[in-house]
Amino acid sequence: MRKQERRAWICLLLAFVLVAGVGLFGYRFVTKGGEWATFYGNSQIYTDGAINRGTVTDRYGEELLTCTPDGFDYSDDYETRVSTVHAVGDPKGNVSTGAITTFRSQLIGYDIVNGTYDTTANGKKIALTIDANANRTAYEALAGRTGAVGVYNWKTGEIVCMVSTPAFDPADEPDTEAEDGEESSIFFNNFLSGLLTPGSTFKLITSAAVIDNMPDRDSFTFDCDGVNQLGERDDTKLTDIHAHGEVDFREALAQSCNGAFGALTRQVGAETMEEYAEKTGLTKPVDVNGIETAAGSFDFPDDNDVKLSWAGIGQADDLVNPCAMMVYMGAIANGGEAVQPSLIKSATFIKEISGGRRLGRYLDEDTAAELKSMMKNNVVENYGESNFEGMDMYAKSGTAEAGGTRPDAWFVGFTDDENAPYAFVVWVKGGGFGSEVAAPIAARVIRTLGETSD
Ligand SMILES: [Zn+2]
Repeated sequence: MRKQERRAWICLLLAFVLVAGVGLFGYRFVTKGGEWATFYGNSQIYTDGAINRGTVTDRYGEELLTCTPDGFDYSDDYETRVSTVHAVGDPKGNVSTGAITTFRSQLIGYDIVNGTYDTTANGKKIALTIDANANRTAYEALAGRTGAVGVYNWKTGEIVCMVSTPAFDPADEPDTEAEDGEESSIFFNNFLSGLLTPGSTFKLITSAAVIDNMPDRDSFTFDCDGVNQLGERDDTKLTDIHAHGEVDFREALAQSCNGAFGALTRQVGAETMEEYAEKTGLTKPVDVNGIETAAGSFDFPDDNDVKLSWAGIGQADDLVNPCAMMVYMGAIANGGEAVQPSLIKSATFIKEISGGRRLGRYLDEDTAAELKSMMKNNVVENYGESNFEGMDMYAKSGTAEAGGTRPDAWFVGFTDDENAPYAFVVWVKGGGFGSEVAAPIAARVIRTLGETSD
């Protein structure tokens, strides 16, 4: 009797081990299957270490790359190759954000039911969300300067333009080694991986903190003499390009007054500023189809008024990632809710109706609405609506001192047209004034996006 009981227990134990083992395998199969199938030793899908099947197109089906057993076949057009290389990838795999690297399992046609089996051996066609025409325009507009242009549909999350310069021709790849984190590297994607001094574009984060924490903001005024000396010493000035005179909160943003924003930052305080840098998504990486963007960082000291002021103006140790900044622009446009950016075009129409995946609420609806109204005021008062003809434009420029001989030019914002709900970020290293240099690039790219439609 006792013997039987023991055997029964052993059987039960063995059965349990079997079930657990199958379960573990099943779990691993589902989660790691793509990785196993795309293992470099799988000769069926690689020739000399390169994927030998699959096609990458832009959102309208323009072929950007076809992988064949004889090698990579890029677009015939030089400008198309150069302007999309950071989205498509290169033969040597130096561009870590390229589709060849990040969407490998989708390219070879792997799926859980069929594995890598496919009758044609041509692999799959991946449609990226980018508009090759807009990428070419952005590349041309950057005109040989180091920079980044990113535009996405803030309703669906689709990145319609992503260009990083300097770039290179993947059909004639240079023999340089990739240097990790080197900003000027041709392989580096400034838009997804860059960490940059935001300059006055950061005043949109400080403004959100002011709107939520200063109920008396409508009676705020600041008298700007252009120097805005804080302490005795020479290095305690919050210098402006010129004296802005007396400005209120709204006017301070439109004129981008450093003196006023220093005062607002000190009123809000270090702790709140830190909270808003986090709340607006700038301190965490953004997940773009598995590609993690660089996370921004800030230092808001509570014992150094000068440094705290500069941190609220987008200088000091402030570092932002352009993609995260673009997502924040989208959140303001979208009533405070951020939508996750994506590079793979959805095969269904569901996304267009329901919108992209929500990243959560960055701002209250009222806060977003007030900021939106202030960003429109910036365009009307400062940038000129006639420069954005045919667009409902909301924006903020930035001219960031990042250590170069000339400041970096920024222009960030969004359009709110039914057929063109685009949030964007433009950064030009050493470009000069944001409103003069980066704003026309944004206008040109958005205009190009309107030329073709789904
Ligand atoms: Zn000023």
